[in-house]
Amino acid sequence: MSNYGAMYEKQFVRNLNRYMSIRQNIGRRVERILADPYINTEMLADAGGKLNLLGCRSARVDRNFRIVFVICEECRSIPECEYCLCEDLPDKTVVFLTVGPHDKAYSMKGLTEIMQIL
Ligand SMILES: [Zn+2]
Repeated sequence: MSNYGAMYEKQFVRNLNRYMSIRQNIGRRVERILADPYINTEMLADAGGKLNLLGCRSARVDRNFRIVFVICEECRSIPECEYCLCEDLPDKTVVFLTVGPHDKAYSMKGLTEIMQIL
């Protein structure tokens, strides 16, 4: 039973198809995030001064894979958040931004030009 609604950024869906072999694991992790996005997830910050990930969170899928997302109720209170896609969405919405191997996920590869919710 999910308490939070889900929105998916284009890059997230694209990567879900790219990483077919762990798609099921990602799906299970997404379900757990929607049940409670604050449990076992990590707040991100300024990643080495290059990318500002303030307002975003990450969740582990496995040793290497991470899901990066925002929770609208949290992200709304962080004006510095550069990945806020929460406009017109209810507070209890999780926006899934990207998924992939650690380094690629945190570099938000492919995301900044697109930023489009499906
Ligand atoms: Zn937001």
